[in-house]
Amino acid sequence: MNLTNRDYVAYIRKISQRFEGCGEYITALDAATGDGDHWTNINSGFLKLVEMSEELETLSVSDMFKKIGMTLMSVMGGSSGVLYGSAYLEAAKVTKGTDTITLPILKNILEAMLAAIMKRGNVQPGQKTMVDALCPAVEAFSAAIDRNLPEAEIIENMRKAAIKGAESTKDIPAVRGRAFYQANKGVGHLDPGAVTMSYQLDTLGEYILSAL
Ligand code: ADP
Ligand code: MG
Repeated sequence: MNLTNRDYVAYIRKISQRFEGCGEYITALDAATGDGDHWTNINSGFLKLVEMSEELETLSVSDMFKKIGMTLMSVMGGSSGVLYGSAYLEAAKVTKGTDTITLPILKNILEAMLAAIMKRGNVQPGQKTMVDALCPAVEAFSAAIDRNLPEAEIIENMRKAAIKGAESTKDIPAVRGRAFYQANKGVGHLDPGAVTMSYQLDTLGEYILSAL
């Protein structure tokens, strides 16, 4: 696997299309446990990135992530905007000097994003947030690399763990995010941020598999 900026931007177009198609569903999830704006936030952020695709393609990998982070932070709004902004800015730091994204570099990127979100959100796994999709995905990725599995299997394991992780948020009482202020802490409802995080990891994985 060897992704260029052009590949990453192609992935951004794909995930943006996916977000465009799930407005009612994600808005309903955030209306149940939060304030109903999560889809608007994330969709507007990614539409802006699509608008900037040509510029993103001309940058270095690190500068592309920096630009994505700054854009999401300023365009998205909500807690999720700040968290995605921090995640991409941290990804920019760990990719300084790299020309392309290889599998071990992608592992570093996802680990850096997870660490940034946990720090910025003051959040741990199991608290009903986007971390519950990202953390198991990172763990599955690492475990698969350690076992020397074929690239396609590493990516598949990562995708499955993200989706399963998002599904797990249904039964978790919230410790962070707006669902914490619900009488039942959102139990019985999926966390919208975990679902959109799992979509991103799933679509990224799907793109990588198609490009292998
Ligand atoms: P807001 O909660 O400010 O309205 P959004 O609706 O865009 O922002 O995003 C909500 C999502 O952000 C939640 O579903 C959750 O996954 C995530 N989130 C909120 N607060 C935190 C936090 N402190 N740490 C990690 N993720 C969080
Ligand atoms: Mg919200």
